[in-house]
Amino acid sequence: MDLTVAQLILQDRKIAYAITDRNLSVVQVSDPMGIFYNRHQASLGRSLLDLVPELVSSEAVLADILTGELPRFELAWVNRETAEGQTLYLTMVILPHRDRTGQITGLVYLIQDVTEMGTIDQQLAQSRNELRLLQDRLARQNLELAAANAELQRLDEMKSTFVSVAAHELRSPLTSISGYVEILLDEEFGPLSDDQREALEIVQRSARRLLTITNNLLDVTRIEAGRVELVLQPTDLPALVETVAAELGPQLEAKAQRLTLRAPPGLPPALCDETRAAQIIGNLLSNASKYTPHGGLITVSLAPAEEEGFLQVSVADNGVGISAEDQTKLFDRFFRAESAHLTQASGAGLGLPITRSLVELHSGRIWYESEPGKGSTFHVTFPIADRPATASSEPAATAGA
Ligand code: ADP
Repeated sequence: MDLTVAQLILQDRKIAYAITDRNLSVVQVSDPMGIFYNRHQASLGRSLLDLVPELVSSEAVLADILTGELPRFELAWVNRETAEGQTLYLTMVILPHRDRTGQITGLVYLIQDVTEMGTIDQQLAQSRNELRLLQDRLARQNLELAAANAELQRLDEMKSTFVSVAAHELRSPLTSISGYVEILLDEEFGPLSDDQREALEIVQRSARRLLTITNNLLDVTRIEAGRVELVLQPTDLPALVETVAAELGPQLEAKAQRLTLRAPPGLPPALCDETRAAQIIGNLLSNASKYTPHGGLITVSLAPAEEEGFLQVSVADNGVGISAEDQTKLFDRFFRAESAHLTQASGAGLGLPITRSLVELHSGRIWYESEPGKGSTFHVTFPIADRPATASSEPAATAGA
């Protein structure tokens, strides 16, 4: 290796060196980068200990190198301030200096400026510390979040328990009010005047409405808790729709609404829970009636769905319809659209969320299209049963939304 290459390496690696005799007197210095702060001219002939104050307490170690007992001595990350106040990081190595015969004639002192590496290392350490701090903060926030979630869950369970207990407690007296009003209306306790009949009919309608709301609240808590179990059986859907429509007869008659059922002959049976399927169809029919003015038309169509293996029930009305903005929130609990205010229909905004959950429990789908002022059509699908409907599957209809 010629001198130029050696100097190039020294420059590139920012290395300077000094060679001493056995008395530690500097006899040669090479410092192309000025790492000795250009003091090397003055250093010739001086003690290495003057040049490197860090070695002052290491004379014994230097003596061991001179005897050949110690092959090398290193001081890493020594820092020094420059006259300009800049901190330098230096690595220092002391090696024995030998002549051609291998005799140790003094020491070689190598000094490397590793400031760049040192700065990067320091930045890395700082980044690592910041990362650790962030990790600690994240872990703390995760703990707080978990605690907040647990509290929310506890409150949610309390709310569900409260709603469930309240609804249960309300249901029994409401059922007996409804029952006794029915007996009174049947004049089993004596004849009624027109005024008395009218008043009792109002009580009956209100009791039924309250019963529907309490049943819906119970359903919401049951669905939330995953406690709704379906008893699936092959079901004749057109017969089920007819039964539900008959139950809603008085509601339709009161508004002089006409209901048409369209079902092609030979439809296969659906696989569904009859009570829950009746509730689904009842909710849609009841809504169609509630949100359609006096004299409106309601059509229920049954057909094989586009999706193979499913039947589709579509309930169409020519009522007030639903605005595009309201349509985005239709399945939110307790949401009531503008149509509810337009028609002044009663309700609690629970029918559609419950209907959707029940449809999805059947592996079916629910969707709709609607135009304000023109009407709405709600579609639901039920899976097709692979067995015919049995005679025992007399539909058991329940109240609407
Ligand atoms: P509820 O009828 O008890 O208010 P639902 O959850 O069944 O609750 O319906 C939510 C809202 O969606 C209703 O308040 C009504 O504004 C709107 N809606 C539902 N069905 C129809 C329909 N066929 N036509 C117009 N609006 C409807």
